[in-house]
Formats: sequence, structure tokens, C-alpha cells
Amino acid sequence: MGRKIISFIQEITESLYWIQGENNATFPYCHTYLYNEDVLIVFDPNCGKNRLKKGLAQLGKTLSDIDFVINSHFHIDHIGTNYLIKKKSAAKFLIHEADRIAVENFDAYVARYGMDRQLEPQWRATLKMLGYKEMTPDQTFNEDELLPGNFQVVHTPGHSPGHSCFLKSQILLSGDIDLTSPWVGNLSSNVADYLNSLKKLKKLKLNMILPSHGVPIFDNIPHALDKFYQRFLDREEKIYNLLPNHPVTLDELTKRLFRSYSKNQQKQLERRQAFFTFHFGKISCLNFLQHLELNGKVKKIILKNEEYWEKIE
Ligand SMILES: [Zn+2]
Ligand SMILES: [Zn+2]
Repeated sequence: MGRKIISFIQEITESLYWIQGENNATFPYCHTYLYNEDVLIVFDPNCGKNRLKKGLAQLGKTLSDIDFVINSHFHIDHIGTNYLIKKKSAAKFLIHEADRIAVENFDAYVARYGMDRQLEPQWRATLKMLGYKEMTPDQTFNEDELLPGNFQVVHTPGHSPGHSCFLKSQILLSGDIDLTSPWVGNLSSNVADYLNSLKKLKKLKLNMILPSHGVPIFDNIPHALDKFYQRFLDREEKIYNLLPNHPVTLDELTKRLFRSYSKNQQKQLERRQAFFTFHFGKISCLNFLQHLELNGKVKKIILKNEEYWEKIE
């Protein structure tokens, strides 16, 4: 009898495996990549606990065999399984220096979301439920560093300050630069940085992009990166065009943005992050406004102690 084929695990190269995240790798799951050669490395282990165990079993391994866990960034849908591996193994945990604080300190993690007093307790409870536990990384890394398995760090801030991709033999593990939709929903996200990161990736001669969400990209990679870059510009233009001819608050502008979505899009958003959706949309809007401000297209004014945004004509 042949080896049982489990459809959610695929061999990418002789030593690199892709475990598809549960629920099509939508929040709170991501795709996980296993590297099994001289060392066993797990990149972003949050594909779902059973899938991770089954994936390891395919290689004749268990959680206790993991040597390194490398995280692309601090978000819970990537780090949520770290604690389980920590409990079961002697694995070393690695993350970029700029995201260290958020995995080490819960308050620092939460602060990056900029939530108000009403929303924050619910978010804290959600994070705990999804597996957040403060943990000091064994090692932090920076741009160009060579990690175990000879993966090269490509620091790609924007989604988060420490967001990093990992490059080996023209294959890029791209984390949340997943070429689906631009997510800049944290106070620590930055549109200008994100765009620069995409420019940086365009300069690499890539054969394959293996993202944490969405699907791997094997063909026409420069075009896929261009398309994604354009999506940022389109989003920004949309937000700019939603600004009326009088100053508006961020709340008002976000409501306008949400009203502009189709019923279908709105439903999809609801499903994804329930009551946090509006908040993430708002912070995302703020990040685009700040980028527009940087480019001299909008300005922030204070009226009666409240922040308003307006176009510069
Ligand atoms: Zn993320
Ligand atoms: Zn993610």
C-alpha cells in the first residue's frame, strides 16, 4: 500500500514543505513551511495544531524534533502556536529585532493596535484565546543576516516594523506580503515602508513566492508584485477621492469607505474579524492618510480638540 497522501501538505523542494493553513489560511491561521535538512525549521507554525503535527509526522518527526521556529512577524495568526512548540521541544525562537517587543510584552503587542477602552479588553481576550503568551525570543535578526538552513533575511517593514521575508535559492518565504490585499491596520504599520519593501522584492530574481496566506506564486512574479503595488495606489486613491470638500474625522471617512464596499465585500469583512473589522479599517485609513500627508496631498487640522482631515487643493 502506498503512503497515505494528505492533501494539505505539499513538497515544494526536496527539503521544503508547505502545510496549508486551516480555513484556507484565513485569520487566525496561516500557511506553515517546514524545512527539513540538517536542521528542522518551522516557519510561522500557526497552520492549525493538528495539521502541524500531521505535517511533521509525514517527515517522520514530532514537535519535539523542531530545532528552530522562525516568525515572519509578531501577529497572532503566525505566532499562536509558538508556546506549544516551546512546551514540547528545545527549539530556538527567532524574530526580527523590531518585532521583538511585541512577542515579549503583551501590553506592547496590544499597543500596536491603538484600540479604545471599549474594544481593547475584547481584543486582549481574543489574543489569549488564540494562544498569545509572552515569550522572549532566543535570537533576533536584522537585514541580510543568514539564519539556520541558510535562509537570508530580507527585511520588509510596512505590514509590521519587523516584518521579514526569507530567501533561499531564489525561493522567497514572503510572510504577509501575500499579494492578496494590502493590510496596514496597525499603528505600527506604514504605507511608505510597505511600498519600499515591495520595490526591494522586485529587485530580487525570484522563482517562487511562498506566502503565509493566499496561494504560492510560481509564474510571472514581477507582474504579480506590480499588481500588488498598484493595489496600494488604488486603495490610496480611493481614500483620497472619498474625502469631501470639507474637513472630516477619521471615523466619518472610514464609514464612507465601508459604505463604498459591495454587499458581498461587507459580508466577507464581517466574517473575517467581526467587530474588529471597523477598527482595522480605521487604522488602515489613517495609515493611508499619513502617507498622503507625507506626499502633500492632505492635511490634518484640529477643530474643537478633534482631529480632522482635508484635501490640499
Ligand atoms: Zn500579519
Ligand atoms: Zn497573517
